Formats: sequence, C-alpha cells, structure tokens
Amino acid sequence: MTARILDGKAIAATLRARLAAQVATLPFRPGLRVVRVGDDPASGVYVRNKDRAALAAGFSSATIQLPVETTEAELLATIRGLNDDPDVDGILVQLPLPPQIRAAAVLDAVDPAKDVDGFHAINAGRLATGQPGLVPCTPKGVMHLLAETGIALSGARAVVLGRSTIVGRPMAALLLAADATVTIAHSRTRDLAAECRRADVLVAAVGRAELVRADWVAEGAVVIDVGINRTATGGLVGDVAFNEVSARASAITPVPGGVGPMTIACLLENTLQAALARRG
Ligand code: NDP
Repeated sequence: MTARILDGKAIAATLRARLAAQVATLPFRPGLRVVRVGDDPASGVYVRNKDRAALAAGFSSATIQLPVETTEAELLATIRGLNDDPDVDGILVQLPLPPQIRAAAVLDAVDPAKDVDGFHAINAGRLATGQPGLVPCTPKGVMHLLAETGIALSGARAVVLGRSTIVGRPMAALLLAADATVTIAHSRTRDLAAECRRADVLVAAVGRAELVRADWVAEGAVVIDVGINRTATGGLVGDVAFNEVSARASAITPVPGGVGPMTIACLLENTLQAALARRG
C-alpha cells in the first residue's frame, strides 16, 4: 500500500479562505494579539507566520513583544490590559516563557473567552467534560485533517502517542468525543510498538525524530505526525519515519506541510469563534 499524502498546506489554505470569506461579511475585524517574551528565534518564525496569516484573512493582528527580563507581574498586567480591551477577541501567549515566569499562572490569567490557544483550565475542563469551548489549535487541526481522510472515527481504535496538555491530552479528548476508542501512550508505556500497531488512527506527538517505524504501524492505518524535530543538518523531520511508514499506511501527513499549517488556520478559526461568541 502507498499512503495518500494529507496535504495540510492545501487543506489549511482552503480553511483560511473560508474564514476570510466569513470575516469579510462582518461589520468588525476579529482581533488577535500574540504576546511574546524574549526573542527565541524558532518562535519568531511562528509568530510572524501567525501575524501574516491573520492579516491576510482580514483579522486585525499584532504582536506585543516584551523584553526577555519581563517579570511575571508585568506580563500579567499586559494580559489584563488585553482582557479588558474590547477590540481584542483572541490572546495567545507564545511559549516557552523565560524561567522567571510561571507559564501556568500566565495561561490561567487569560480571559477564557479570549483564550484562542485553549490552554486555560476552564477550556481544558470544558473539553474534558464534553462542553463547547475553545479547543487547542493543533489537535483541532488534526481533526480537520482526519475529516479529509473520510475515515469513520466512530468505533475506530485511535492511539495518541504523547500526553502533553498542548497536544496529546486534548487530542485524545477530541477523538473520544468523535466516538473513537482511545489509548494514550507515553514514555512509561510498555511495548509502545505493540500499542501503536493496534491503531486504525495513530497520532504521534512525542518530539522524537522518526520514533515511529514501519513495523509499529498496521497495514492501512491513518498516521498523523504532529512532531517537529530539527535534524543536525538543519532540516525538519517528524516523529514518524515517513518513507517506510508511507508504504504501510493508507494516509499520512508529511513534515513539514502536514499538521503545522493546520495549527495556524485553526488559531484563526478559534479567533473568529471567540469574536462571534463575545460580540454576539
Ligand atoms: P512534550 O514534550 O510536552 O510531550 C511529549 C510527550 O511524548 C510526553 O507525553 C512524553 O511522555 C512522550 N514521549 C517522549 N518521548 C517518548 C518516547 N521515547 N516514547 C514514548 N513517549 C514519549 O511535547 P508536545 O506535546 O508539546 O509536542 C510534541 C511534538 O509535537 C514536538 O515535536 C513539538 O515540536 C510538536 N508540536 C507541533 C505542533 C504543530 O503545530 N505541528 C504544535 C505543538 C507541538 P511523558 O509524558 O511520559 O514524559
């Protein structure tokens, strides 16, 4: 079997165009603000891409750049200002934060109604209890990609590799909400390969270059690779050994060009959702 490549770049472009068309009908521009502390070069690329995509889709977007020595109190004050600003619909605090700032305290200071990353405990709790709310962008993007495969998730065996609050846990919650039978695997899982081989749908989010090999994957499985790992030569690879797994899977996402572009498109989708909910 040769896997169908799920072209996240193209699917994200379609989603962004749909959002832009919807924004064009509104009497206001949904507002996104990204808060960045310090100048980590990797996150700089993401932040620029987010800004560019938001502006191109008709959102108002700006990055608030704070110096690396910003205190937690100063960052919290910035967030309070954005919470109170009626023109701001979505607030995203770029991670990682410098060590003097507690990420959990900062993420929980964002107004849950403007929490377009879906990281606030209220939104995480809503997702865990099956209530509507703002859902983390990367797993939301994966659900869009899975919808494209046409695979019926109801009753399917899904294995999520990774249990972070950013990807693994919300991913598992979304798959469960879609009636999949979900297993979450992690660094303490016994016989990871055997767990993965049981999957009709395998989502890898571990941050270990090419950990998932062909013999970890059932013939015909759908494989979604969330991982982004930099190689010694500066290239990017996922958590899945793409070439060998492509020969067994029925569908697979490439890295780059798979999940990554969907994350940004879903950030815009969340900002629009937050704007419509807040402004009525
Ligand atoms: P974290 O480091 O927070 O979590 C990694 C998870 O993988 C943990 O649950 C860890 O287990 C598990 N894990 C690590 N090593 C192994 C191993 N050898 N075997 C089994 N499980 C393992 O990472 P994130 O969830 O934030 O990100 C995961 C990957 O996805 C990264 O490559 C990141 O760059 C990428 N990413 C991509 C995005 C995109 O837009 N495409 C967005 C966000 C992330 P344990 O809990 O036991 O330690």
